[in-house]
Amino acid sequence: MPNETANSWESRAAASSFYGFTDLPTVAERGTVVVSGGHGPYVTDVHGRDYLDANSGLWNMVAGFDHPGLTRAAQEQYERLPGYHAFFGRMSDRTVELSEKLIEVSPYESGRVFYTNSGSEANDTLVKMLWFLNAQEGRPERRKILTRINGYHGVTVASASMTGKPYNSVFGLPLPGFVHLSCPHYWREGRPGESEADYVARLAQELEEVIAREGAETIAAFVAEPVMGAGGCIVPPEGYFDAILPILRAHDIAVVSDEVICGFGRTGARWGCEGYGFTPDAIISSKNLTAGYFPMGAVILGPEMADRLHRASEAIEEFPHGFTASGHPVGCAVALKAIEVILDGADGEPPLIDNVRHLIPAFEAGLARLAEHPHIGEWRGRGLMGALEAVADKAEKRPFPGHLSVSERIANACTDAGLICRPLGQSVVLCPPFIMTDAQMQEMFDKLEGALDRVFSDVA
Ligand SMILES: *Cc1c(COP(=O)(O)O)cnc(C)c1O
Repeated sequence: MPNETANSWESRAAASSFYGFTDLPTVAERGTVVVSGGHGPYVTDVHGRDYLDANSGLWNMVAGFDHPGLTRAAQEQYERLPGYHAFFGRMSDRTVELSEKLIEVSPYESGRVFYTNSGSEANDTLVKMLWFLNAQEGRPERRKILTRINGYHGVTVASASMTGKPYNSVFGLPLPGFVHLSCPHYWREGRPGESEADYVARLAQELEEVIAREGAETIAAFVAEPVMGAGGCIVPPEGYFDAILPILRAHDIAVVSDEVICGFGRTGARWGCEGYGFTPDAIISSKNLTAGYFPMGAVILGPEMADRLHRASEAIEEFPHGFTASGHPVGCAVALKAIEVILDGADGEPPLIDNVRHLIPAFEAGLARLAEHPHIGEWRGRGLMGALEAVADKAEKRPFPGHLSVSERIANACTDAGLICRPLGQSVVLCPPFIMTDAQMQEMFDKLEGALDRVFSDVA
């Protein structure tokens, strides 16, 4: 362990903190990266070392680590009203403003917003909303939730049940009533000789079969990320949403877009669903919502679901759900600023979404160039989220044996070179901050290329 002494930050972290989603043997071997500052897209560790964070923290720090407008918005709100709730007919003025702003930038003419502290809680809230309103409307059996394998929707009990990852079996999840459809990944899941269109038709057929098997009258909603993030930046095949949405609509199954990563410009469009040409019944937002400067999530209901939920709540006089910090005024002030910074441009700066669109061609070209490597099977991505998938054999798409931990080695080699990127299965995921410059993007690809060369010469 490089910097470990009895009293080092690394050993203090290891002795006192519990790590989530962390490979403990790797930490035991390499030590914890303890971060104490940041500037632009870089974080700085306690030894003063800079790392270009090609994952925007956890997909969320899209405006970098020292955005003056966002910190000022938080500070001003702390001085005005440092906290309040949204229960019992009270809420802060900032909460009202943020709801109006979210509806304005949403695909909806009207709607309502419910606030949480995280994306997981937003998905849990959505599930409770659906259970509640279907029960109030006399359809109490309409409770099942459809998601996809590799879809990521969070870690609370309901949202982990929505998440289609095998690791949740250690918790005895998913709960009954959470049904996982196939992962729409043509490169990996398409059969030999199967066209992309035939693959999409097969996925649509599967959906029909699942609905018939489960009973349409028992299914409340289909929840999907437009592009899967934590599943490995899985971009759906051409025509996927066009093929499956009419089936869902025909069976009166609500369609919900989990935009926790894709929302606010990540894919180049304002919302991921907008880029794929569909309007869901509700949107789940978090992460980019505050550019990572405050923990916050939101369920944005389109007009129809908003009206239904409102009526159902009136019938029993309330919607019995909410978090102490729902609609926190500081979070709302930060989110208002983040939306302005990303979508409108603030303080004389152009909107960050313009820079996203400017960077996309270089990002795609950089991924495509690295994918020429004999041990990269596929590059995929949309907007500023992308992945490179390592393979032992490119023609056969054969993965490296799991015990070689190839993607972890690549990520570790990147960390050693001052670049943070994320191993996910056999792939390495990049999700750069929206503020990246052309030169920083070049630095990212140069460092990644060096790491790939080093690791593949060791394992191949
Ligand atoms: C991160 C994520 C969540 C969960 O958000 P948390 O704030 O970590 O609870 C839900 N959905 C998607 C698509 C995510 O990427």
